[in-house]
Amino acid sequence: MNRQEQLNILLIEDNPGDARLVENMLDEIKPNPVILHHASSLTAAQAYLQSHHIDLILLDLFLPDGNGLDAIKKIQRISNSLAIIILTGLDDQDFAIKTMKHGAQDYLIKGQGDGHLILRAMHYAIERKHIEQNLVLLAHVDSLTGLANREYFNLAFSRSLALSKRKNNRLGLMFIDLDHFKEINDSLGHLIGDTLLICVAERLKACVRSVDFIARLGGDEFVIILDDIQSPETIMIIAEKILSALSRSTEINQHKIYISCSIGITLFPDDALNINDLLKYADAAMYKAKNQGRNNFQFYTHELNAEIIHTISIKNDLRWALQRQEFSLFYQPKINVLNNKILGAEALLRWQHPCKGIILPDQFIPVAEQSGLIQAIGKWVITEAMKQQKKWQQSLCPDFRMAINLSVKQFQDNTLLDFITSELSLLALNASSIELEITETLLMQKNHDEHHILRKLSDAGFKISLDDFGTGYSSLSYLKHFTINYLKIDRSFIKDVISNSDVAEIVKAIIVMAHALKLTVVAEGVENDQQLAFLKQLNCNEVQGYLISKPIAPSEFEQFFREKNETS
Ligand code: C2E
Ligand code: CA
Ligand code: CA
Repeated sequence: MNRQEQLNILLIEDNPGDARLVENMLDEIKPNPVILHHASSLTAAQAYLQSHHIDLILLDLFLPDGNGLDAIKKIQRISNSLAIIILTGLDDQDFAIKTMKHGAQDYLIKGQGDGHLILRAMHYAIERKHIEQNLVLLAHVDSLTGLANREYFNLAFSRSLALSKRKNNRLGLMFIDLDHFKEINDSLGHLIGDTLLICVAERLKACVRSVDFIARLGGDEFVIILDDIQSPETIMIIAEKILSALSRSTEINQHKIYISCSIGITLFPDDALNINDLLKYADAAMYKAKNQGRNNFQFYTHELNAEIIHTISIKNDLRWALQRQEFSLFYQPKINVLNNKILGAEALLRWQHPCKGIILPDQFIPVAEQSGLIQAIGKWVITEAMKQQKKWQQSLCPDFRMAINLSVKQFQDNTLLDFITSELSLLALNASSIELEITETLLMQKNHDEHHILRKLSDAGFKISLDDFGTGYSSLSYLKHFTINYLKIDRSFIKDVISNSDVAEIVKAIIVMAHALKLTVVAEGVENDQQLAFLKQLNCNEVQGYLISKPIAPSEFEQFFREKNETS
């Protein structure tokens, strides 16, 4: 028998006579099958276990610093994989049996048997401990993929975290969510969905290092614990490997399936120090990856956290804003460059938040679009702006034009068309006095339903205005497929039109092209006289901007209109 096969046994025994007895019995066997280590108290044993490899413990039932049950607990806290045999006197057998319910694998009665008996008991105890551990593991395994399940992940993660803290290591946590898995599952069935998950599990395993730990938390969510990360690049390499491994197509039951995933990554100790926060942050980073168009990975950042908290609170409050009548419309005048008179207004949404004060649309329109609330809010805007239009046509000017912004998302609602036209007839307004501001993204949509709604609106007589021109694809080629009446040059161009000659050339070209297509050109964001003079020189038709007025409340607008249009 060579040294490697020798068992390392720690005998914890305070009575020197009893200790010598065990020693002598084991010495009878030649060649010596064990290396016997000795500790005379529980405290000494605990210290010894921290720094030595031990296969089995022979534990005296009564020690000066703890009886058998405490001792087992304390030992298990140091290592869960150690087999334990209790050494007991003849009178304490019942107690010894009790300890077996608490983690001991066997017991021996002092003075009985010989070295061979002890050795056999030790081998059995080690084997039994091994089987017990496998059984525990089995309850911790995800039966579909064979990966660890959530409970096991929690255990493993706390262990990794403790280890990293002790060794001052960096640890990475990766949160992986499959893209569009639900669609595959719903359309091809659960059997194919399950097979796909098994396949994903296999591919994940092939991407990570042997030290890394993979678990399936449920559904199509996977996590990976990456121990001892030298630098974030190591994680990036693994993340990239996963993205490309998963994007290889899979064939299941003659179905060729394409899948991808979104990955969120967080680092210990950089981002957070505890399991809950790390998991939450990795999840948040995963959502960011989804929002970035899926099939990519994102690291968690503190800004992301602030962003998420902000979005969540906005989303919650937005749900009530309509009912609580917290919205209002401000109006920004548009003037005719030729005579400097106000010819209409753009309705701009304002949200009077109960605690945060006035919130501008850039802060909440994207959230409203994401959550679908834009449909209801948008309808409120339409009604409100049309009512105002009715009033002002009567009180300010019969030719007054009202511009209303419409989000692309509103065109995904097939009640939009009926809604707008019925509101219009309820107020007995003329469609041509309403300008609908849309963006290039709507024209670029592949979906014909949305184009259909746009055409119907234009057929009904509404004026269509192409907003923010120049920021999107800026191709005039698709304009011929639609009836567009106005083109609004984005304010980012107007901002630089004086200081940057390239920008000035672009603006010049846009105006010439737009006029060739018989569009009326509106410049937005005009803030000073030089910009106005330049635009006037290029025959830009209408302007809007702080130079004339900021968006203002209706009463203020009326006053401004009278001052401006009834003088000079
Ligand atoms: P937009 O349609 O491009 O509206 C013009 C934005 O530019 C307004 O910001 C306006 O206050 C601002 N602005 C006007 N003149 C100037 C200027 O001279 N200088 C500068 N720096 N800014 C100027 P606001 O009101 O914050 O609205 C932002 C965006 O929110 C709008 O951009 C529009 O896309 C969206 N929005 C506003 N109201 C609605 C609405 O009722 N429905 C929808 N779907 N979107 C809306
Ligand atoms: Ca607009
Ligand atoms: Ca605009």
